[in-house]
Amino acid sequence: MVNLINFAYLVASVLFILGLKGLTHPRTAVRGNMLGALGMLLAIGVTLLDQQILSFEYILIGVVIGGLVGAAFALRIPMTSMPELVAVFNGFGGGASVLVASAALVEHGAPSHQFTISSAVSGLIGAVTFWGSIVAFFKLMEVLKGIFQFPGQQFINGLLTLACLGMGAWLVLDPGSLDPFWIMVAIASLLGLMLVLPIGGADMPVVIAFLNSCSGLAAAATGFVLDNNVLIIAGSLVGASGLILTQIMCKAMNRSLGNVFFGGVGAETAPGASDDEVYAGKIKSTSADEVAMLFDTARRVVIVPGYGMAVAQAQHAVRDLAGLLEERGVEVEYAIHPVAGRMPGHMNVLLAEAEVSYDKLVEMDLINPSFQQTDVALIIGANDVVNPLARDADSGPIAGMPILDVDKSRTVVVIKRSLSPGFAGIPNPLFAADNSLMYFGSAKEAVLDLVAAVKEG
Ligand code: NDP
Repeated sequence: MVNLINFAYLVASVLFILGLKGLTHPRTAVRGNMLGALGMLLAIGVTLLDQQILSFEYILIGVVIGGLVGAAFALRIPMTSMPELVAVFNGFGGGASVLVASAALVEHGAPSHQFTISSAVSGLIGAVTFWGSIVAFFKLMEVLKGIFQFPGQQFINGLLTLACLGMGAWLVLDPGSLDPFWIMVAIASLLGLMLVLPIGGADMPVVIAFLNSCSGLAAAATGFVLDNNVLIIAGSLVGASGLILTQIMCKAMNRSLGNVFFGGVGAETAPGASDDEVYAGKIKSTSADEVAMLFDTARRVVIVPGYGMAVAQAQHAVRDLAGLLEERGVEVEYAIHPVAGRMPGHMNVLLAEAEVSYDKLVEMDLINPSFQQTDVALIIGANDVVNPLARDADSGPIAGMPILDVDKSRTVVVIKRSLSPGFAGIPNPLFAADNSLMYFGSAKEAVLDLVAAVKEG
């Protein structure tokens, strides 16, 4: 029986890995997701057969409540709030690991070093993940605004980390008492709060990816507590893939992980130029008819989608516009910035939903050299990812972040409703540039008007 169960776990793990592989490309992503879900179904089903379960009642109640809450979340959450949802799920993952490790310690005491060490790791990482994710959630919801910093914060965080490690060591060396475990969980909770509270604005995506990785590591440690192979493997996969994503996000935002957590960058603290200084007297607004005339003479147009396209759900209108231009012999491509929108791959998902062909989506590094040969760069609800301050300023929330070099195009047309800033909260000199035209309006209506104007032209 044990061999059969481990074989089923092995099959589930292979399905997880194939699922992750599928998720690396939009074309195979749906299949990848299904394979991963199938693996999880198999793992859960087999686990229910495996353990000496005394009663299925609580499990059933948990499955029903969890299933309903999960389905309600998945159906109701708008795509633009996905990072908040991921933050909450990461937190629940961490919290669950703490609860399972606590329950196992209370039930079994401390039968072996493997047991106590993995319980301590699970409690420590799980508590940091839970509280860190709660803060990240409220920050993304903009309920918690501002940066909470005080002198000596990093020193105190260092002390808290040492205290956690000390309590963990105590638990391992003196397994007779569970007090060190509870104290460690309390200190780790404080550490989770203290680590994420000082991080602000633009760095939050990196934090979410990192907490995702932590929730996986906590689950893997819990796998050692329960002696459950599939939990160890699944947790490690989440931990590793979360870490890879963290690294990709760090690179995309030109931050090191240490810099995100301890540098205080990403905080909206840098005193920058005011809106008036950047914009006064320099903004040129345009209309659908004028932009349609620009398209008449254009040979190459690059569409740059951003968060505003997601909010307005303008992707279908954008695809229609691109199709129309292509029918007229214009070369059209989409420039995809790795952190455009509010979650990794946000723009890819929206454009795939609108059935835009994958080969038209070009990543930042590949498309940047082509802006010089681009007649019109059409920015649709993007802001930070095309802000030249990222290249030019020495400090500020997005300083050093690689951006799409749209300003090198012959003409830049920006569709947005106002001169309001993007996620990072700073003005964008691109809007005031000589070759920029502002086409004010909500993205969907603006693009639909543009489609009508191009048809009439
Ligand atoms: P930004 O957040 O910089 O800007 C979005 C712009 O969209 C706003 O300036 C807003 O201007 C405009 N907008 C909002 N609603 C509409 C609408 N209905 N129609 C037209 N425009 C609209 O978006 P970007 O995509 O350029 O950059 C993403 C930012 O989010 C980066 O700073 C990134 O670090 C951060 N981030 C990214 C995550 C990720 O994983 N991708 C996760 C979390 C944060 P106006 O109000 O004037 O219309």
